[in-house]
Amino acid sequence: MYFLNSKAKLGWIEVITGCMFAGKTEEFIRRVVRLSYAKYKIQIFKPSIDNRYAEEKVVSHSAKAIDAIAVLDSAELLTKLEPDTLVVGIDEVQFFDQNIVETIDSLANRGIIVIVNGLDKDFRGEPFLNVERLMSRAEEVKKLHAICVQCGNLANRTQRLINGQPANYYDPIVLIGEKDKYEARCRHCHEVTY
Ligand SMILES: [Zn+2]
Repeated sequence: MYFLNSKAKLGWIEVITGCMFAGKTEEFIRRVVRLSYAKYKIQIFKPSIDNRYAEEKVVSHSAKAIDAIAVLDSAELLTKLEPDTLVVGIDEVQFFDQNIVETIDSLANRGIIVIVNGLDKDFRGEPFLNVERLMSRAEEVKKLHAICVQCGNLANRTQRLINGQPANYYDPIVLIGEKDKYEARCRHCHEVTY
């Protein structure tokens, strides 16, 4: 392919977001695999906080997996970035430090395609700031929804249950878990106790 601007470089941000059980990780893996067919050099990063399935992989609920590098924060991500990488995938971006937003923006400015996956809201229904800020900077935002397990409405919230009961507003934000602790619910059925 030939472009008029021969000095053109790539570089953009794609954000995949929504609540849990919406298929975000499936979509993330699909986009990464699609770029891998084009032989782009790809690196996938995830915060080392999330080890629910595999230390060095990103795994969807339906068990599709890709290799990932677990890093503590945005600074460590930059130290692990290889000079010829053209695509950076970042999973669970809501769990990174807040500098991840500027880091991602600068990667895109340098000509890197950044594909970001993350929850837009915590269990209380309030925004995760990293994702909120990235959505305004991104060239593309793909917001996925789930189906409310209570009523069948479109679900855009993640319900946290502790011993079967809605979690308290003041519980810690980060609690990694599976279906016994989280489910998709709509705006009407989502509950938080105080
Ligand atoms: Zn509902």
